[in-house]
Amino acid sequence: MAYNVQDLKQFDKAYVWHPFTQMKNYIAEEPLIIERGEGSYLYDIDGNQYLDGYASLWVNVHGHNDPELNAAIEQQIKKISHSTLLGSANVPSILLAKKLAEITPGHLTKVFYSDTGAAAVEIALKIAYQYWKNIDPKKYANKNTFISLKEAYHGDTVGAVSVGGMDLYHRIFRPLLFDRLEIPSPYVYRMEEYGDPDNIVDYCLKKLETLLEERHQEIAGLIIEPLVQGAAGIITHPNGFLKRAAELCKKYRILLICDEVAVGFGRTGTLFACEQESVEPNILCLGKAITGGYLPLAATITSENIYSAFLGHPDENKTFYHGHTYTGNQLVCSAALKNIELIERRHLVEDIQRKTPIISRALHKLRALPIVGDIRQKGLMIGLSTKSY
Ligand SMILES: *Cc1c(COP(=O)(O)O)cnc(C)c1O
Repeated sequence: MAYNVQDLKQFDKAYVWHPFTQMKNYIAEEPLIIERGEGSYLYDIDGNQYLDGYASLWVNVHGHNDPELNAAIEQQIKKISHSTLLGSANVPSILLAKKLAEITPGHLTKVFYSDTGAAAVEIALKIAYQYWKNIDPKKYANKNTFISLKEAYHGDTVGAVSVGGMDLYHRIFRPLLFDRLEIPSPYVYRMEEYGDPDNIVDYCLKKLETLLEERHQEIAGLIIEPLVQGAAGIITHPNGFLKRAAELCKKYRILLICDEVAVGFGRTGTLFACEQESVEPNILCLGKAITGGYLPLAATITSENIYSAFLGHPDENKTFYHGHTYTGNQLVCSAALKNIELIERRHLVEDIQRKTPIISRALHKLRALPIVGDIRQKGLMIGLSTKSY
């Protein structure tokens, strides 16, 4: 190492602005600087070992430094690392799109790449918005808004924040954002006064239906994290909520956008969460675990039907004018392809299903602790609430 440990700690404080971090507190403490990873463990520059308990923010799938993932990236790097997808193609992005079309539910076949979950959401919102304008600009002139859930989290760019519902993060930016319509989320533990889980689901869906009844002409789509709201505190939705919300979207002809950036790739016990309620969204957003925690990639996947609304003569202005410099980057796509191959070959989803009840039993013991108010679990996504908050 060219610099010693103390230098690095000082440079970190001097030059790096960390995300979601109050830097005044951060610089008052010793920084944790990770140097390498092996399996489920991280090692810092002082040689200390840490269990990577949250999989480096819900992304790491096969552990760190996986020889097969490493090799896939090395192989690709020797050919080419990046060429643009704007108007030209590359091999890994083609193969990955085909694979994603095969493994995602139903008729989702058209893959639009980006590099962060927030971008995947922005793209979904823009596609949904433009879809209505493309099919009939007069009839759908007012379809300009989206519904999302209380405490929704869909990323940090301005569009993604617009459909967000977390006051702590989003309040300050309100004047910058477009309007959204909010429905309550079926957060059973905090909604005792509404009755049992079925009553709570009914209550939330009634709110959704009323909104749709009154204002569906203004609404382009509903965006939802299926089954579990991750960043909000692992809020697990009771069974049936997603399915019935999806039915309402169909009934009132608005698009359903499932943001599976957090729940996708097995975490809830099926490869994609919406499978559990046999829901096929119009648009699906993927990110986080898509490359096994190796490289930044996200994807927005939609159906032939939506895609075809964007086809036309250039003068018709139906083109989707959106793209990022690194859209469909070869290195990133080859990491994702290998990740998905390994998920299948190593039977990762079955393994999650096997581990889920084991962890469930272990968690049960925590219920006896006076501080523990609620334990929620869907697959390997687990949230605990304290009694007071
Ligand atoms: C993390 C997350 C995002 C944002 O993804 P980034 O890659 O951080 O931009 C969007 N939606 C959900 C549900 C997430 O958990």
